Amino acid sequence: NAMLNIENLTVEIEGNPILDSLSLSVPAGEVHAIMGPNGSGKSTLSYTVAGRPGYEPVSGDVTLDGESLIGLEPDERAAKGVFLSFQSPVAIPGVATMNFLRTALNAQRAARGEDEVSSADFLKVFRTHAQTVGLTPDKLKRPFNDGFSGGEKKRMEMLQLALFQPRFAIMDETDSGLDIDALRMVGRVVNELRSPDRGFLVITHYQRLLEHVRPDRIHVLAGGRIVHSGGPELAAELEEGGYEQFTAEAA
Ligand code: ADP
Ligand code: MG
Ligand code: MG
Repeated sequence: NAMLNIENLTVEIEGNPILDSLSLSVPAGEVHAIMGPNGSGKSTLSYTVAGRPGYEPVSGDVTLDGESLIGLEPDERAAKGVFLSFQSPVAIPGVATMNFLRTALNAQRAARGEDEVSSADFLKVFRTHAQTVGLTPDKLKRPFNDGFSGGEKKRMEMLQLALFQPRFAIMDETDSGLDIDALRMVGRVVNELRSPDRGFLVITHYQRLLEHVRPDRIHVLAGGRIVHSGGPELAAELEEGGYEQFTAEAA
């Protein structure tokens, strides 16, 4: 019962194969981690699943609950429940944070045929989640991400994750550059959202995050392919022996 199914996915950028017939399945209710060297294609994988322009596969398929996502616009994929937390979130000057997020949430709900969330209801959940992620009201009065530190932007990503309650969340190095308190907060948000009908793909360089979010499976991505998969204990093996032990095996 794979929720997200990636089958023989090949993605080329400027004629170079970045993902090379990559296959990966994440069942509903599971958290899978992707680890791998710099430039191995981790962000390319997340962009391709989320539908970022320029990352259209040359072959293969990505399905969510058995339905292909390929060819759909990013907002259509979001409406189907795909959420991508960016490695480098952008600021949107001049757009009030709360209005922006409420509009985005209601657009997704409308695309799914669901009712709008009222301002009052939105404010209530927004405040609750803001507190959970440690963003103070003064920060949230600013334009979206405007003047935010790297850590504050990551907190904002987690706030969006909590608000949107996606079916399937991809976190692309959300933990990079975070201090230990922020890391713990990321763990808290993900663990609260873990549920039998939600899946996660957590991309990380570090074992640290996986101490807070215990993954069901860990996959090593190298050279555009999954070269090794294992249980949560694989994180410590990688920390110990590096990626080389598996990239050599694959080569
Ligand atoms: P990772 O996230 O694992 O560090 P990326 O997916 O960002 O790796 O990149 C994989 C490879 O694809 C790298 O060699 C990178 O330079 C190349 N690449 C990714 N996106 C682009 C792009 N938009 N233009 C040119 N090269 C790209
Ligand atoms: Mg990178
Ligand atoms: Mg990356």
